[in-house]
Amino acid sequence: MKDIIILGPPGSGKGTQAKKLAQKLSMFYFGTGDLLRDEKQNNTPIGKEFQEILEKREGGLVPDEFINKFVKEKLQIIDLHKNIIFDGFPRTLSQAEMLEIFFKKQKRDYIVLNLEVNEENIILRLATRRICSNCGKIYYRPDELGKISCDVCQGKLVHRQEDTPEVIKKRIKIYNQQTLPLIDFYKEKNKIININGNLSIEEVDKEIREEIDESN
Ligand code: AMP
Repeated sequence: MKDIIILGPPGSGKGTQAKKLAQKLSMFYFGTGDLLRDEKQNNTPIGKEFQEILEKREGGLVPDEFINKFVKEKLQIIDLHKNIIFDGFPRTLSQAEMLEIFFKKQKRDYIVLNLEVNEENIILRLATRRICSNCGKIYYRPDELGKISCDVCQGKLVHRQEDTPEVIKKRIKIYNQQTLPLIDFYKEKNKIININGNLSIEEVDKEIREEIDESN
């Protein structure tokens, strides 16, 4: 097995797919968004710094120096015997270069799953999605719209601060400017596997599993 980096625009469903894979394949789920939200919830110094940055740049990325230092520290304390699935990291070339150093040093190999989704689908999904305030499960399917509590833990479903129309547009722009160049970066390294992210959660999951089996 190899490590996995999951790439895709906001609303591509990468969080949902990454968490599913982590559970089914016993991988370590390394989601920088969730890790940072945990820090915020636990009121740690990093969490407070994250909150301050977010207030200044709604929907924007936190600076590379901040996130790279945070990720480096986390990678030192997790169980490296497990394969890792990276969700939400890297998001810039500088972050990708930092992660390359980690892979080389630790002699780890990886693949990159690139979820491709049409822009109309992205906007629709983000505008309607809600997240469980307790366990983080994401809800965006039409048949889930009426739900008010989580199927898994009964937590309250809430809209994320970042999911307003203005912030959604800003996040897509940032993705196109900062994160899209990563696709060429990984293409040159022959690591990219494109996945059609417009399909249902189950269909995307199936496609991903087939690609992973083939790559191992
Ligand atoms: P996410 O849940 O992945 O959308 O992350 C939530 C927020 O955390 C983002 O809007 C960014 O402000 C910040 N963040 C998470 N991962 C990164 C990253 N790799 N680079 C910069 N900012 C990040």
